Amino acid sequence: MTIDTTAEAGRDFIRDIVQADLSSHKHNRIVTRFPPEPNGYLHIGHAKSIALNFGIAQEFGGQCNLRFDDTNPTKEEQEYIDSIQADVHWLGYDWGKNLFFASDYFERLYDWAEGLIKAGYAYVDDQSQEEIRLSRGTLTEPGKNSPFRDRTVEENLDLFRRMKAGEFTNGARVLRAKIDMAAGNINLRDPVLYRILHAHHPRTGDKWSIYPSYDYAHGQSDAIEGITHSICTLEFEDHRPLYEWLLDKLPVPSKPRQYEMARLNLTYTLLSKRVLTQLVRDGHVSGWDDPRMPTIAGLKRRGVPPAAVREFIKRIGVAKANSVVDVGMLEFCIREELNRTSLRRMAVLRPLKVVIENYPEGQVEEIAAINHPDNPDAGTRKIAFGRELYIERDDFMENPPKKFFRLSPGNEVRLRYAYFIKCTSVVKNDAGEIVELRATYDPATKGGNAPDGRKVKATMHWLPAAQSKPAEIRIYNQLFANPSPNAADFAADLNPQSLEVLSDARVEPAIAEGNSPEAMQFERQGYFVRDADSTPDRLVFNRTIGLRDTFAKEVGGKG
Ligand code: ATP
Ligand code: MG
Repeated sequence: MTIDTTAEAGRDFIRDIVQADLSSHKHNRIVTRFPPEPNGYLHIGHAKSIALNFGIAQEFGGQCNLRFDDTNPTKEEQEYIDSIQADVHWLGYDWGKNLFFASDYFERLYDWAEGLIKAGYAYVDDQSQEEIRLSRGTLTEPGKNSPFRDRTVEENLDLFRRMKAGEFTNGARVLRAKIDMAAGNINLRDPVLYRILHAHHPRTGDKWSIYPSYDYAHGQSDAIEGITHSICTLEFEDHRPLYEWLLDKLPVPSKPRQYEMARLNLTYTLLSKRVLTQLVRDGHVSGWDDPRMPTIAGLKRRGVPPAAVREFIKRIGVAKANSVVDVGMLEFCIREELNRTSLRRMAVLRPLKVVIENYPEGQVEEIAAINHPDNPDAGTRKIAFGRELYIERDDFMENPPKKFFRLSPGNEVRLRYAYFIKCTSVVKNDAGEIVELRATYDPATKGGNAPDGRKVKATMHWLPAAQSKPAEIRIYNQLFANPSPNAADFAADLNPQSLEVLSDARVEPAIAEGNSPEAMQFERQGYFVRDADSTPDRLVFNRTIGLRDTFAKEVGGKG
């Protein structure tokens, strides 16, 4: 799939650098990469990185690699490798033939590590992880040299080879770069390059007993692939001197440059794989693709169109300082896109039966309804109108306050596309609850207008009782009730009302018959999409988003 992002492309400091590097012929072709670790599903923060890296490659006629940073087999799974590829495609981007795995470079990375040892730039340390941590020093105090720092090259080589051969237990030793334990930048205080890990790797199987650290594998993978601009988030700014130190000491085929940008943070949202994994494991959500999750899979299942995500990413831009984006901006982009593209349908979420007493029993007529108000090409469809209908329970009040213009005893309203009706009486059960309304219609108002020019103040959606179909509708609200959820204790900030299930909703036949994965607008209710849980007998719909932003009022969150 190709998408034209030229119109979408904005300017930002990274694109400016890329343009300057092309103009000065520092590079004649741009190569970027998106480097996910396959330890979870992608989320909307990753979409920012994907849109930037693939976008730059498209706009400047370059290439963007999809590279799995698969250096930690204890956390990585094939399921994640598969989902990441599906999600990048869904967003509208394509790596073509440029699919890579850091694990493809394990052999070369190992050889280069031996090279570092031979050059006196790396040593095997027998200290425990805890001892290494304690001797690293602080921002104000230098670290302490390891007692193993001055091993001979021969001893280091011998131990490193035995680490590789699987002779030692997990954590018994590590390979460290020999840089400077007094460096102002803690990342340069002899960082770990390899650790012992007896673990099965999804791609290399049981071949390796040692695995490279992120810092060691990442930059060298960039260099092997000829990446020109290696874009990461701001936390890695302090790692850049190490990134460059390694490129400088190793016989790498190219010298990429690292650039840092702000991470995407969203209000009411946590974009941390650790938290998202926990939400799934602890059953707070139904899975990685739960429509409340900020994952790409969740957004997709919720009915969010990929174009809305791309538009959102374009609007937030790329900055050098971290900030928090109002989730309302994402919702705005979703509404804009769906308002433009989605077909209109009628559904009654909480049905209340209305019997039109003066409508002939057994009679049914077909009423034409417009599929899209701004797009006549979308055409019309027919909806049956008869004596028994459903309206929305909220659209009726027995004792309405002054400003309530919808249905109430004696009050006249318009049923969309159909007739004016007037409520004549209310039927209650033994518990005093309203179970049915009795009404009359005015046959002269067919099509929804009175020939005598009289007006009504409300137009309501409705469905025929017999011809409409039952459905379950799932209404989603923010997963967190707190605008800045606490990642350390996220369970306390969960919104107890994030999911509401309406199990006796009704939908029009056009909704039931259409087997489209596209979202639809249910008039006056919002945008909805058929959920994968639907069966031929039981339709399930997700509310992608309401028509207006009501969340602020519901939880008193946003101003
Ligand atoms: P972790 O490293 O904690 O597992 P991560 O979210 O950094 O999580 P990666 O798989 O390493 O996950 O991320 C892949 C790429 O996506 C990286 O280049 C990273 O910088 C980028 N990325 C991750 N989160 C965000 C975010 N919130 N905003 C922008 N880019 C992000
Ligand atoms: Mg990461």
